[in-house]
Amino acid sequence: MLSLHDTAAGKVTEIVPRESGKVALYVCGPTVYDVPHLGHGRSALVYDVMRRYLEAKGIQVDHVSNVTDIDDKIIQRAAEEDRSTSEVAEENEAVWWAAMDQLGVLRPTEAPHATEYVGQMIEAIAKMVDAGFAYETQFGVYFSAEMVRDYGLLAKQSLESLKMGARVERDPTKRSLVDFVLWKRAKPGEPAWASPWGSGRPGWHTECVVMSLDLLKDGFDIHSGGLDLQFPHHENERAQAAALQRPFARHWMHHAFVEIAGEKMSKSSGNYTSLADLLERADPRALRLLVLQSHYRSPLEVTEETISAAGVALARLDAMARRFGITPRGMDLACDRSEHEQKGDHRAISEELKSHIASFVRRMDDDLDTPAAISGIFDLVRTANTGASGPESASAIAQLAASLLASLGLFVNGGGEDVDSESADLLRRRDLARRAKDFQLADRLRDELYDSGWVVEDLPGGSELRRRH
Ligand SMILES: [Zn+2]
Repeated sequence: MLSLHDTAAGKVTEIVPRESGKVALYVCGPTVYDVPHLGHGRSALVYDVMRRYLEAKGIQVDHVSNVTDIDDKIIQRAAEEDRSTSEVAEENEAVWWAAMDQLGVLRPTEAPHATEYVGQMIEAIAKMVDAGFAYETQFGVYFSAEMVRDYGLLAKQSLESLKMGARVERDPTKRSLVDFVLWKRAKPGEPAWASPWGSGRPGWHTECVVMSLDLLKDGFDIHSGGLDLQFPHHENERAQAAALQRPFARHWMHHAFVEIAGEKMSKSSGNYTSLADLLERADPRALRLLVLQSHYRSPLEVTEETISAAGVALARLDAMARRFGITPRGMDLACDRSEHEQKGDHRAISEELKSHIASFVRRMDDDLDTPAAISGIFDLVRTANTGASGPESASAIAQLAASLLASLGLFVNGGGEDVDSESADLLRRRDLARRAKDFQLADRLRDELYDSGWVVEDLPGGSELRRRH
């Protein structure tokens, strides 16, 4: 099984899912006050790669990611543009999903909005007030962080040093510098909901704890996000779960930032100014390859230079696909090994493929070591291209390289059938349904594909689409 670095434990630990064969994953999503930046692209790709990899191993991933559609920044943006907060949020959310689709990022299984959860957040805050973990001031309701015994676990800091580092205090009614807001009383003209503490809105830290526990239930497997969320956002979520006496995330995962090589992000430097800007000027697959080539816990430089280097590497992969006439298809990392074993006449090749799959899985299971996994795939590309192992083996190795890349969401382009992303997703869901032996759903998805002009062909190790004539 996959091992990941756990921020709470401070080391790499094995993921032992709460329910065998299923991983419940919560990823903190965007605050939709602006268009997505490059860091959002990396974040989305890191978790998309992990999800696809787990699914290729036959594990079902319940992937919940929220959309923060009410927040100080959205209110400020709406005021600046003389529009409503919902207009600002809806417009930026649409841009977000369009960028995710272009990147080939699978939609979360559920994407709850903060504004849909205000009622449940008020209930949770009331419970925390009743239990003595929260108190009311003239500005709203605050959480008393010092009530939580191990507050600072994710921050890796003591309560005292957290207090020292607390920002210049604006609210003198707070009992401690580390206390944080649960409910903000609204100023005139701001969007507001009625509550026992006056009309206002919930603080940001409450939505994720309430939505994750509602949709993924107690003790879900992985809670994740960028390093900037480790403290205070995730620390404060943990604290609230403790106050609510709800077993919370069993594993904390954080990814590193995107860096721009000391240069300020600006149009004049020639660098990308936003995710949309990059997607307009480069192959979206280049960003995925670049993300894969660095470890998720290391900073990543996204510049024209690094993207263009990834583009060159991508061209090598596409050239291999053209040469061997490869159509990318999904890969079943759980079953492939035994399937290859069954082919007696190809025993020599199968043994070789088996060992390549095993080393790929070993690298990915080791805290998602995608740089090593990708470099192993490029070794396969080299072997296939030199043809040293004979023509039949070369073609099988090329197909394997393409299938392993597909299990990470990177699809090589051999110039064959151009499958639209909607049909590719239907095929992926059909593969998952077949693996779960839900043949009724698999047949329904096959019929849906047929209606949109595709015939599904089931081949050893995966399925692919052919145009219906
Ligand atoms: Zn969150």
